Amino acid sequence: MPAASLTHIESVGLPSDAPSYPFFAFDIVHESTDGSDACCGVLRTPHGDVETPNFVFCGTKASVKGLTPEQLREAGTQIVLSNTYHLLVWPGSELVEDMGGLQEFTGFRGPMLTDSGGYQIFSMGHGSVSSEIKGQRTLPDEMRSLIDISEEGATFRSYWDGSVKTLTPESSILVQKQLGADIILVLDECTPFNVEKSYTESSMRRSHRWGLRSLQEFSRLDCQQRQALYGIVQGGTCPSLRDESTHFVNTTPFFGSAIGGSLGADRATMHSVVALTAKSLRRDRPIHLLGIGGVRDIFHGVRHGIDTFDCVHPTRLGRHGGALVRRDFWDTDGSGGGSRSDKVKEHINLKKSPFKRDSRPIDASCGCYTCRNFSRAYLHHLLKAGEQLGGTLVSLHNVFFMNRLMRDIRSAIRSGTLDEERSKWVHPALDA
Ligand SMILES: [Zn+2]
Repeated sequence: MPAASLTHIESVGLPSDAPSYPFFAFDIVHESTDGSDACCGVLRTPHGDVETPNFVFCGTKASVKGLTPEQLREAGTQIVLSNTYHLLVWPGSELVEDMGGLQEFTGFRGPMLTDSGGYQIFSMGHGSVSSEIKGQRTLPDEMRSLIDISEEGATFRSYWDGSVKTLTPESSILVQKQLGADIILVLDECTPFNVEKSYTESSMRRSHRWGLRSLQEFSRLDCQQRQALYGIVQGGTCPSLRDESTHFVNTTPFFGSAIGGSLGADRATMHSVVALTAKSLRRDRPIHLLGIGGVRDIFHGVRHGIDTFDCVHPTRLGRHGGALVRRDFWDTDGSGGGSRSDKVKEHINLKKSPFKRDSRPIDASCGCYTCRNFSRAYLHHLLKAGEQLGGTLVSLHNVFFMNRLMRDIRSAIRSGTLDEERSKWVHPALDA
């Protein structure tokens, strides 16, 4: 790396007593033999082990919407996350700490992760990546929460009570310590893709300085007694910036590496940024891909060595009547559900009229509580009638689906049959 780009890091520096994460481990138990970087591992945390590759479900406001911890467990869930930003504005991290931390507060007594809070502040400030894709380059003023970004941190207006708050790398670590999740993240700026390269570059370097300040605070507060800190790779879609950022994360004593920032406007760019970034990340640390949860994206990420993924997609989709389906659905099922006239997707919309009199489960081979007990017609009715149970039952199917997907991926890595496995989940029309 050029000497000039090191200067900005040296100006902050490493903590004198770098954390050693005594209560965490990441063990790779099987490496793929098919020439890909796929591997199976075990992420060990004080609240239990997570088999990798795995999917982290979003319990945004300390709840995976509509599902109890018992339902999550029964559907095979090993790890969930909560969003620091939302818990910071309400009910506040001190209250969660007083109630025994997130695991006690929520009753999900397994491995948990919190983000730094940055993503929500910046996505509401810049306009989210998804709204960029939809062509909405900026948010209306009344929806903007971000007031200012400076070297110190980010100042934003709380959507809860309108108060002005500042999130710094240090305060994010303190808040995440109070929340008490096992895995926590450094504060970074999530830069949108529509900015100049020069902005992405200076933002990335500031995020590196914030990463070091986060690490220093993590050491000062002795968080390693209960927690492990992940660094985040930034750099947008620019290969040289991604290289510089992976070098920074690899050489800084974080426990794990997360891939963040803008991954581009389309799937092809996203896949190339993920492949390039993951290739350069060290393999003795777990790699998390932030905010990605499509089935095709998961197969792609796994092949390039990603260990964990998170996304609101499965549960958000479920609440609105979208049920995830495997390839079989489109090959064998279409007539009864009327779905053959639909464009092939990774999910079906149970609110559509062809499901009104469809007595079959979403997927007879699924095995989830919903598919064992309820017809598409009943789910269609609940969703159309606005009954809460509809969203819960479809979310439950989607959670089970994702956990089954990850379990089958792990066993396919072990048997060297990842391509064959993919063909069961992804319809060829989706690759066209
Ligand atoms: Zn099911």
